[in-house]
Amino acid sequence: MSATAAALAHADDLADFVAASPSSFHAAAEVARRLTAAGFTSLDETAPWSVEPGARQLVVRDGAVVAWIVPGGATADTPFHIFGAHSDSPGFKLKPQPTTGRAGWLQAGVEIYGGPLLNSWLDRELRLAGRLVLDDGYSVLTATGPLLRLPQLAIHLDREANDHLALHKQTQTQPVWGLGNAASADLLAELAAAGPDVDPARIRGYDIVTADAAHGAVFGKDDAFFASGRLDDLASVHAGLVALEAHEHADASHIATLAVFDHEEVGSGTRTGAAGPFLADVIERIQLGLGADREQQLRALAASWCVSSDVGHSVHPNYVEKHDPVVQPLLGSGPILKINANQRYATDAAGAAAWHGWCEAAGVTSQEFVSNNAVPCGSTIGPITATRLGIRTVDVGIPILSMHSARELAGTADLLALSRAAAAFFAG
Ligand code: ZN
Repeated sequence: MSATAAALAHADDLADFVAASPSSFHAAAEVARRLTAAGFTSLDETAPWSVEPGARQLVVRDGAVVAWIVPGGATADTPFHIFGAHSDSPGFKLKPQPTTGRAGWLQAGVEIYGGPLLNSWLDRELRLAGRLVLDDGYSVLTATGPLLRLPQLAIHLDREANDHLALHKQTQTQPVWGLGNAASADLLAELAAAGPDVDPARIRGYDIVTADAAHGAVFGKDDAFFASGRLDDLASVHAGLVALEAHEHADASHIATLAVFDHEEVGSGTRTGAAGPFLADVIERIQLGLGADREQQLRALAASWCVSSDVGHSVHPNYVEKHDPVVQPLLGSGPILKINANQRYATDAAGAAAWHGWCEAAGVTSQEFVSNNAVPCGSTIGPITATRLGIRTVDVGIPILSMHSARELAGTADLLALSRAAAAFFAG
C-alpha cells in the first residue's frame, strides 16, 4: 500500500521534530515550543498555578514535559486521558573531563547510555547535544552540528571483523572529533560556542549526549519505509504532540494530557522518569486548581486512562524464528497493542478493548505484539505508570526494526496511524 500524502507529510514533520530533538532536553523544549505556538501557556513548577476550565498548559521538568487541555465543562472530578511516551534514546553520554585523545587524535570521553546496538554507531557523523548549567544556576541548551565519529577498524587490520565484531565498551567506543593535542583543546568550549555562545569558564555542569546527525528519510517501494535516529521513542512523542496540537476540547469529558518522561532507557527511576513523582505531582496540581477534594481526586483517577506508547518489534524476515509463530506484526500494517502475561506490558483485556475502540474511531487498523516464549520481553513506561498511579493503562506503539540502532526503521503509514489513534483517545 502506498503511503498517502498525509502520511508523507506527517513523516516529514517527524523528521524535523527528531532533528530538533537531539537530546531529551531538546525534545521537551521542542514539545513546549510547538505547543506554546498552538496557544499553550508554559508554567513554572516553583510558581503558583491557576488551572481553570478551558486551560491549555504545560510544564517542563528538565528532559520531561507534561501538557494538558482542560475542557470547558471540567469539574473537580473530571478524569484524565494521558498519552505517555519517553524523550530519551540509547547512545553515549559525555564523561567528566571529556576532552581526551591519543596518537594525534582528539577524542571524547563517553559513557554508554542505555542499551545501544554499538555496531550501528560506527562510521556515522554524530552530534553532541544537551544542557550546560552555568555559574548562576541557569541551564542553556546546546547542540553541535556533525562533530564526532566512531571509525571502524579497516577489514585489512581485522580479517575476522565479519565473523565476530565485538567492541570493547571502554577502549573502542571513544569517538574522534578532531586532530591535535587534548592538552590544548576543549570539547566544552565547542559546546559552549554551539549554544547561545556562553563563556566556557562559566560551565559548572553538563548533561550531554551523542545523536546521529543524519536527517530522517522516507524510502522503499511505495515509500513504505521511514528511517531515522531516535524513533524510540520520539515517534510516539511526536504522535502525541501532533494529536494534542489539533485537539478540540470544548465538549470533551476528560483532560487530554501528554506525558513525556526521560530516562526510560535506564529504568525510569529518576525525578523526570516515569517511576518518579512528576506526572502524579502535575495531576494533583491540576486537580487542586479545579478545587478537588481527596475523594474527587481518587474518583477522577479511577475513571482515567493512560495509553503508554513506545516502539515494539516488527517481524524481521531474516530472523522470523525470534518472533511468536502466529502473532507477527508487520511494518506498515498499523500500530501495535503490546501484550505480555508477565506484565512487562500493562495491557489487559479491558485495555485491549478500549484501545480497539479508539483505533476504530480513528479508522486505524491495529496489530498485536506478543513475545516468543524463548525470547525475553522488553518493557516500558506503561507498567510503571500503572503501578505508580493506579490508572488503567494500555501499552501500544509502532512496530519497528533495528530497535536501539543509531538509525531505526519504521513503516511510514504507521506513524500517522498512531497519531490518529492518539487523537481519538484524546477525543473520547
Ligand atoms: Zn522506548
